[in-house]
Amino acid sequence: MADIINLLPDNIANQIAAGEVIQRPASAVKELLENAVDAGATEIQLIIRDAGKELVQVIDNGEGMSETDARMCFERHATSKIKTIDDLFEIRTMGFRGEALASIAAVAQVELKTRQRGEALGSYIEIDNSVVRRQEPCQTAEGTSFAMKNLFFNVPARRNFLKSNAAEMRHIVDEFIRVAMAFPQLQFSFTSNGQQVFYLEKGSLKQRVVAILGQHYNARLVAVKESTDYLNVHGFVGKPETAKKTRGDQFFFVNNRFIKSPYLHHAIMSAFAEMIPADSFPLYVLFIDLDPAHVDINVHPTKQEIKFDDEKILYAFVQSAVKHALAQFNVTPTLDFSL
Ligand code: ADP
Ligand code: MG
Repeated sequence: MADIINLLPDNIANQIAAGEVIQRPASAVKELLENAVDAGATEIQLIIRDAGKELVQVIDNGEGMSETDARMCFERHATSKIKTIDDLFEIRTMGFRGEALASIAAVAQVELKTRQRGEALGSYIEIDNSVVRRQEPCQTAEGTSFAMKNLFFNVPARRNFLKSNAAEMRHIVDEFIRVAMAFPQLQFSFTSNGQQVFYLEKGSLKQRVVAILGQHYNARLVAVKESTDYLNVHGFVGKPETAKKTRGDQFFFVNNRFIKSPYLHHAIMSAFAEMIPADSFPLYVLFIDLDPAHVDINVHPTKQEIKFDDEKILYAFVQSAVKHALAQFNVTPTLDFSL
């Protein structure tokens, strides 16, 4: 009987794996911004063209990479962030799976320029289809510039699945905002087709929230801050009068990672009950910090869904923290629902 099983070549295995991490230009935006944050950058630039279909570039002033690492970073499961499985439960970085750059290099054309702090020369690498086309020393600023060009140029079926520029742009803006919101102490800029979309100075969380979501929130934010030995919640909720009929101004971060949690969303909605009309949504930007041992962030490749070891404690705590904050600011239910 003939044997029929063969091992897929690396570039094909990488293309398949890439489907989980890189679905659209915005996925690359998220991964590259997070890498810049993990590299200790204080200034991060995002540059896109054609809604990221032609170019997604992130330039940071972080720690940069050595010549060898500049090559290694494109290997699958190549990461400087964990070494053992136990490290997973002490994660303080945004990344750890070592998949993003390998995935991007499998489905786009990539140019990396990087220079470590204190080194005279940097490295330049061109890679596409998981194959290094060129590598040479180069002059470049300290830090890293990572350009992803022509996403899915070699996977036409996926390229066809991309949405209109307006739709892809919305996803990109969402991802940018999520990272920028979590790190107000870092400076971010974002240009699209040469036009500035955001320029965010380093500042407080409140300044960042207002810079991103609008000046009208300036006098309409209520600070939330409460902690126990187990966890700490801080951030802002909008005064009830700012609640909107549309979603969009709701942000939850666990250990600085944006997450989607209908369960915790419900905790906040219930804290606002009676204060806002039933069909509207309050602004919230809330950070939950807890020992990474209590969270499993590895349940989803994009890490937007996570598991807590005790969700009920979290629910009760978030709900009461928001209630206390609203009560303290003496925001009484004054909305006239008959209007
Ligand atoms: P992960 O972030 O999960 O480790 P990535 O594929 O995103 O995996 O990156 C692989 C490795 O490349 C990182 O662990 C890091 O060592 C290095 N790296 C990626 N981006 C940067 C950057 N902007 N600056 C410095 N090093 C980087
Ligand atoms: Mg990463």
